Amino acid sequence: MSKRRVAIIGCGQLAQMMAQEGQPLGVEFSFLAENGENTDCVKGLGTIVEMEPGQDPEALYQALGRPEVITSEREQVSVDLLRSFQPFCPVYPDPHITEKAQHRLREKRALTDSGLPVAPFAAAQGEKELREAVDQLGYPAFIKSCENGYDGKNQWCVKSAADLDAAIPQAGDQECVVEAGVNFACEVSIIGARSASGEIKAYPLTENRHRNGTLLLSTAPYDNPELLKAAEGYLATLLKDWDYVGVLAVECFVSESGLIVNEVAPRVHNSGHWTFVGPEASQFANHIRAILDMPLGDTACPVPVAMVNMLGVDVAPKQDNDGVWLYGKALRPGRKMGHVILQDPDMDQLRERSEKMIEELYGEKI
Ligand code: ATP
Ligand code: MG
Repeated sequence: MSKRRVAIIGCGQLAQMMAQEGQPLGVEFSFLAENGENTDCVKGLGTIVEMEPGQDPEALYQALGRPEVITSEREQVSVDLLRSFQPFCPVYPDPHITEKAQHRLREKRALTDSGLPVAPFAAAQGEKELREAVDQLGYPAFIKSCENGYDGKNQWCVKSAADLDAAIPQAGDQECVVEAGVNFACEVSIIGARSASGEIKAYPLTENRHRNGTLLLSTAPYDNPELLKAAEGYLATLLKDWDYVGVLAVECFVSESGLIVNEVAPRVHNSGHWTFVGPEASQFANHIRAILDMPLGDTACPVPVAMVNMLGVDVAPKQDNDGVWLYGKALRPGRKMGHVILQDPDMDQLRERSEKMIEELYGEKI
């Protein structure tokens, strides 16, 4: 049987892991590098095509090896580029979803249109509107630029009038969303896949902890059947409302009034890297299965698993673990260099071991 072909837009670690997990399914990969993007992560995993300005979409599609499907490892990708491939093959997730997810205001409105609970928010652009929005929502508030926000970048948590004064020049004249600060006990995410023919599978809830706005630790399953049910409901609603194909991640706050949706990621997600160990199919394998309309793999995770991100650290830990993934990137402070996975039948033990792992990797408790 001839191999199936998938092209991925992006050449980072998410593309790398999709290819590594897709190859055993008999899938061949090609990668599109945009704007001189570094391709270290995907070397040796398939053809790499460097995009040139003004390149004809059909020529690009040919260069990518005429894939059956095109997907992306990121939401910050030109929607026009995605649409330009649609005459040749399906693009999953569909560009209309990427268009929402790459703009926080459109995303928030789409979430509320689907009936999902989000923090009270207001659109604001420029000093006057920012002040009015914070006035209306109260402190603490989060000012987030509508575009180019990731890993806590381009957002400002304002807890006082002084914070607001400092944030205003930084936010400048760009379009922003101002959100009321949610008082949360913890953050969780739910990740699931929907295949082209509509099969849906979700992983257990994952508890997430951040460091300076970047994910540090994910632990699963977050054991709360009621919240799991709510999260599965939100995920399924979005998957169906958006006619979504592929893996989708939904990030939520656990608040006193239940789950509040923070944002979505229309792709495989850092908080799902633990799915390499535990479930039968990882999020990467299920994304590839979903977009090729293959039956989805099992997502159950009977034994607790944790993932510690290696941020600006590229030395494998000595402590006992269940796998170290190093993405092969050049070391830079705070950069996602890899991750470590731990598994333990005892959740308390797992938490303790995760803390020790963080201490070893970072030389301190965080
Ligand atoms: P990432 O790419 O890591 O998901 P991001 O840049 O997209 O981050 P958000 O997820 O919106 O940004 O916010 C980053 C973090 O800031 C959240 O995980 C949460 O800890 C905190 N945060 C954001 N919005 C709020 C809010 N409304 N109330 C309380 N905390 C918030
Ligand atoms: Mg986030």
